[in-house]
Amino acid sequence: MAQHNLIRVAVPVPLRRLFDYLPAGGPLPAPGCRCEVAFGNRRLIGVVWEIAAPGDTDQPLNKLRPIERVLDSRPVLDSDLRELCQRAATYYQHPIGEVLQTALPVLLRQDTPADRPGELVWRLTARGRFADPAQLSRAPRQQQALTILAEHPHGLSRPMLTSLGLTSPPLRALEKKGWAELVLDEPTPLPPTSQSPLAEPPLTATPEQDAAIRAIIASEGFAPFLLDGVTGSGKTEVYLQAMAHQLAHGRQVLVLVPEIGLTPQTIRRFRSRFSVPVTVLHSGLSDRERFKAWCDARDGQARIVLGTRSAIFTPLAAPGLIIVDEAHDTSFKQQDGFRYSARDLAVWRAQMLDVPVVLGTATPALETLYQAQSGRYRALRLTHRAGEARPPVIQLEDCRGLPADTPLSPRSLEALGATLKAGRQALVFINRRGYAPMLLCQDCDWQSECGRCDAHMTWHRAARELRCHHCDHRRPIPHRCPQCGSQHLRDMGAGTEKLEALLRRQFADARLIRIDRDTTRRKGSLDASLEDIQRGGAAILVGTQMLAKGHHFSALDLAVMLDADAGFLSADFRGPEQAAQLILQVAGRTGRSDRPGRLLLQTRQPDNPLLQLLCQGNYHRFAEQLLAERRQTGLPPFGFLALVRAESLQPDAGLTLLQDAGDALPLDGGLQLLGPVPAPMERRQGRFRSQLLLLAPTRGLLHRQLPPLLAALNAHPLARKCRWHLDVDPTDL
Ligand code: ADP
Ligand code: ZN
Ligand code: ZN
Repeated sequence: MAQHNLIRVAVPVPLRRLFDYLPAGGPLPAPGCRCEVAFGNRRLIGVVWEIAAPGDTDQPLNKLRPIERVLDSRPVLDSDLRELCQRAATYYQHPIGEVLQTALPVLLRQDTPADRPGELVWRLTARGRFADPAQLSRAPRQQQALTILAEHPHGLSRPMLTSLGLTSPPLRALEKKGWAELVLDEPTPLPPTSQSPLAEPPLTATPEQDAAIRAIIASEGFAPFLLDGVTGSGKTEVYLQAMAHQLAHGRQVLVLVPEIGLTPQTIRRFRSRFSVPVTVLHSGLSDRERFKAWCDARDGQARIVLGTRSAIFTPLAAPGLIIVDEAHDTSFKQQDGFRYSARDLAVWRAQMLDVPVVLGTATPALETLYQAQSGRYRALRLTHRAGEARPPVIQLEDCRGLPADTPLSPRSLEALGATLKAGRQALVFINRRGYAPMLLCQDCDWQSECGRCDAHMTWHRAARELRCHHCDHRRPIPHRCPQCGSQHLRDMGAGTEKLEALLRRQFADARLIRIDRDTTRRKGSLDASLEDIQRGGAAILVGTQMLAKGHHFSALDLAVMLDADAGFLSADFRGPEQAAQLILQVAGRTGRSDRPGRLLLQTRQPDNPLLQLLCQGNYHRFAEQLLAERRQTGLPPFGFLALVRAESLQPDAGLTLLQDAGDALPLDGGLQLLGPVPAPMERRQGRFRSQLLLLAPTRGLLHRQLPPLLAALNAHPLARKCRWHLDVDPTDL
């Protein structure tokens, strides 16, 4: 038998390996090209990963099959992106074929040609261009269509036509006359790079901004920066001026923002400054639009690419700079499937592309802060707010004496009233939606527990339902206690819906804007509410963390926070860090113009020293304290963590699986196994969850344990009765 080169293919299956195939004849495909292969009795689309020497396989040669066909003539993944995916697959111990499912747009996981998709447009034919609209005086709609098409020689797409009020019938009528036609548009040519990319002049940078901008511009090649600037210090202006430099040199900029940070206001700030094409990758795009955006970035049509987490995998024709805005935000970490940190991948990618990367935030994650302290990232500090704005004041509001059914203290209500009276805006923040987090029977202590989770079902009053926020189980409100039949059911605690109702009673004439996942389900409704806030004028905003992030509300003078201190008592060691970030971010929404801002922090632990430290508004002193604790306990960033979580229908199967897999590891070099223990919410969606933590003093030691750990898990008979996954650098314990 003739000896052939082998083709190693990344196949989209949950197995941590590549698969060997024989060539199909013809030239060998280049790595990064897609190919169709037979896999078991299925046909799958994989990506050629490498070409190996004949015979260099652990599979019997007569078992190898040829690939069915090659889909691309040039790679859909360039070598930089392949390197990024490979490194991520190794680091997170995730199957490479599944990593590619995250990296590639949906259409490319299928049999779609990878060339730029043309858009169908209507335009006039040569005859149509000479037609006289007056001839159509008896068909006014055709006349209108003819006139509009004559004004757009490059043609108009379906959505454009619709927005101009043109429907199909008149267009079809023109087509019949031979005056109009439906064609595939030409790609727009690359914008000339000699032209200035600026559409409006930059602001005059403050000295601190100026120093930061200069440092970023001066960097040649890879350089990681932490842009550590208090809220309202003008980090965006630093991004914009650093971007202008790259754009003027014909290079592209990739900007990552948190999941809900992609608001029209953010997009507008980038679009209005520059005259270059901006491509936005957001969850509202159709598969086809996403694919087109991907092509625009790859071919250099898009000069600025703005997107959430997965945009880190966007191909770039001429990369110049990567920016991660609100870099502390937890949405940069994917919490299911391929559990990667886009913040960390951004730094890797910048290194591979040899470009600078800027992580901007007012409240850096302790990991990031530590990188800066140890000199691996260069810290750029903005310590003052821009313009006339002063730092917000944080005041603890002791709520220990407050009755359980009174969510807002008298002082909070008074402050809200005063803000309204002054014609300004106030924000009431609570990170819990719904009316009340539980119902309770006063006679027998029955509670509205979810049958499938260790959690209470939340009362959604307007929807007349109890809902579990963990498994989405729903049921009608019981009118009698399901256990004893009593009618004395009452609710406990408060969510956004109850606060809204309470505030409506208290301030009957006030404008009230509630923003949470329930009020923003409809497409465009979040944007509409944010616009409403931007218009200014007296209002009370009630909302969850959707309101906390990045927004610039210039009329906001006051914020009141409820239950924000719960994180200080949480079992997760990151509880205080994340609570502090949220508190400072909420405080940071206030006082952003020329009026002072204030946060009233309602708390039942006013003596907590960490909370008191935080009230001084100095994140750094607070973070130093936490870092000292982490150093003592060897927790990140001074140690390295991996988490294995198992779920099973039987209570003990997961625990046994994790126990046995942990026992298989040699406990040397200071590796610690914490657990296995039941997960914080043990039962969820009817499954029992347990977890095992590995804590190692070095990254190397941790990573050496992962292959034997996975092997032990895979080989265990209970592995088939459980679902389990590995999370490297977990952020949610
Ligand atoms: P951050 O992202 O750091 O919280 P922003 O970038 O939203 O802050 O800036 C806050 C406000 O300060 C914005 O209204 C912005 O236009 C303004 N600003 C930023 N830099 C300057 C400057 N150099 N001069 C005047 N105003 C500025
Ligand atoms: Zn009862
Ligand atoms: Zn549930």
